Amino acid sequence: LSSKLPNVGTTIFTVMSKLATETGAINLSQGFPGFDCSPELVSLVEYYLRNGFNQYAPMTGVPALRESLAQKTFEQYNVAYDPDTEVTVTSGATEAIFAALTAVIRPGDEVLVFEPAYDSYVPAIELNGGVPIYVTLTPPDYAIDWQRVAEKITDKTRLVLVNTPHNPTGHVWTRNDLNQLADLIRDRDIWIVSDEVYEHILFDGRVHHSLMTHPELQERTFVVGSFGKTFHVTGWKIGYCLAPMELTTEFRKIHQYLTFSTVTPIQYALADYLKQPDHYRKLPDFYQRKRDLFLDGLRGSRFTFTPAEGSFFQTVSYAAITDEPDYDLAIRLTKEIGVASIPVSVFYNRKNDYQILRFCFAKDDAILQEAAERLSRL
Ligand code: PMP
Ligand code: GLN
Repeated sequence: LSSKLPNVGTTIFTVMSKLATETGAINLSQGFPGFDCSPELVSLVEYYLRNGFNQYAPMTGVPALRESLAQKTFEQYNVAYDPDTEVTVTSGATEAIFAALTAVIRPGDEVLVFEPAYDSYVPAIELNGGVPIYVTLTPPDYAIDWQRVAEKITDKTRLVLVNTPHNPTGHVWTRNDLNQLADLIRDRDIWIVSDEVYEHILFDGRVHHSLMTHPELQERTFVVGSFGKTFHVTGWKIGYCLAPMELTTEFRKIHQYLTFSTVTPIQYALADYLKQPDHYRKLPDFYQRKRDLFLDGLRGSRFTFTPAEGSFFQTVSYAAITDEPDYDLAIRLTKEIGVASIPVSVFYNRKNDYQILRFCFAKDDAILQEAAERLSRL
């Protein structure tokens, strides 16, 4: 069989988590919480499991969850989405991203991708015949040079992929970034997929500027979210897409034949649990403490860093320690000192190596302290 994705191997998250398990290393590579979700949420799922909510959910998601999502979104961002025609529940953000890209991209269409980019984006673009056009962001601040973005927009540009807060760098868009993007795509047939799965995890008083909060952008944007990050349940794989009706209609045509619908009892449980904002309002403090604990542990070391602005990832530079390629170093640190990380070069098209590793700090405090201590020995 000739491969449709000849340049794609096994995702780095699987590679590094497997190595961490085999070697018994502390796993700060693949991003998932090292602690459990709330017992109350588990009880809610149990209730729906035991009470007969076990058959197919509606294709678009259970109505109660779509309504809870619309309500939460309105309270948070003051933007109204119609739960019947503009909110769709998906099997994780991954499915939502794939469905949104598939709804828009035709062969030959150009898609602007900011790199380093989350690893599911480019394969999804290419499987649809799209052509990724890269805007390269570099350490230490990964700021967007809008002049360079403007130069990359052509008559073939059909879509811009946005991710804020950003994985892997923790960079967060400002209101100015939204305005700049709006200026660039005005009067053009360009749509946006905005991956906002870390919408609740921002630090040092920053606020999340969802693309839906800019009216011109909102009209063209598929906003993608995930419950995995917000409720510490990455294994449940439930996400969603918020988009104006015209976009949602096309989105659902894809979603209905990718997965049709998503696990039923958990959707009911999330519909109830979403009505309690307490949990996600505490996330910024909860994760900022963990970020700072990890960084305090690294302060005496030769690693250098700028504290992450959002997400639960911290990137660090090891340029003062060794010249090794980041991939080799990530493997060596896993085997030799027992700390697994993600080499950031894998998120660049040309595997640009800026000597940066990504660490996930969604872990128990003692684990973070032990990891920082081991890293400081280098
Ligand atoms: N986008 C980004 C930026 C992510 O970090 C992740 C997963 N960690 C996803 C999408 C996928 O989310 P899900 O597990 O809900 O498919
Ligand atoms: N999003 C997670 C990360 O960045 C991994 C998700 C996955 O393993 N596909 O680490």
